Amino acid sequence: MQLIPPAIPMDTLHSPTSVLVDTVPASQRQLLDMIHCVNQPLVLASDAGKVMGVNAAAAELLGDNAETFVGEHWSSWLASPFQGDYLSSLTSLVSQAHSGREVQLQRADGLLLSVNLSLSYLPGSVPHYLIGLEDLSRHKAEIQRLQMLASTDCLTGLANRRYLNETLQQKWHGCVAHQTPISVLIVDIDYFKQFNDQHGHIKGDECLKAIAGVLTAVLPSTQCLAARLGGEEFVLVLPGFNAAMAHLVAKEVSEGIEALHQQLLCLPANEKVTVSQGIACEFNGQFRTPEAMLQAADTALYRAKRDGRNRIVVSE
Ligand code: GH3
Ligand code: MG
Ligand code: MG
Repeated sequence: MQLIPPAIPMDTLHSPTSVLVDTVPASQRQLLDMIHCVNQPLVLASDAGKVMGVNAAAAELLGDNAETFVGEHWSSWLASPFQGDYLSSLTSLVSQAHSGREVQLQRADGLLLSVNLSLSYLPGSVPHYLIGLEDLSRHKAEIQRLQMLASTDCLTGLANRRYLNETLQQKWHGCVAHQTPISVLIVDIDYFKQFNDQHGHIKGDECLKAIAGVLTAVLPSTQCLAARLGGEEFVLVLPGFNAAMAHLVAKEVSEGIEALHQQLLCLPANEKVTVSQGIACEFNGQFRTPEAMLQAADTALYRAKRDGRNRIVVSE
């Protein structure tokens, strides 16, 4: 990568190229020399927005040779909603000088890229704009990765309790506003302590992962959520589902888990993993809050345990 343009040989000073170079004002040439010495992506533009020079880092970011961009209007690289922002007030660009703003730009190969764009006004007899670009794609990917980690249960890969609480609040308000039902289903493994004692913790973890797989498989839509509440307890959030529909989902959960002992867990034929489930449904203001609905599902689960386990109870 060549950052400093080569010096012009003396014998070419009167060639057509040198005529072109000589027409460039000295101040602008100095600015061009400066941006070529900088490692951060920089673009020099006239006060009307016409690109005068693009340094190597900016050319790499934009996806083509630096020369191809010279003469273009720099705002033409921006994705449409951002282009309008700048085009509408090009004549008063001074007021647009800013330290950094997140925008999307379209590379030469058509890819959209998130960048932090800073605009500096360079006053003088021939004013210019210096445009700084900072690639945000790695930063954004890292934020996404951290958000994912913060919302996922690391053993099962299901949503964790924190994400469950957020989603439940959000889905609750959506359903109440649209006067549609919402159900929650709590799933608790029966005698799981005994399972661990008998088969060991590693097999216990395997069982939790297998059950998480069943819960994911039976989720009826992307609007629904399967989460690990903690320990050997799970929750399904079912927006748009009344109690009868949630009961059907719960039956699928029981059937899916019953099939596990042969397929995945390789347990002896006389041993079965079962779950107890409690359901609560909100429709027409039965519960005041999502927490109250979850509490009702937990009470229903307690009844399922009390009545012998391996069963589904719907909150009255
Ligand atoms: P019940 O039918 O009444 O629900 O009985 P239970 O034994 O399932 O319930 P209890 O609350 O007595 O025990 C829950 C067990 O779950 C105890 C604990 O060792 C186990 N457990 C909780 N988290 C994990 C985990 O991450 N991995 C494993 N292997 N076991 C866990
Ligand atoms: Mg429990
Ligand atoms: Mg249990």
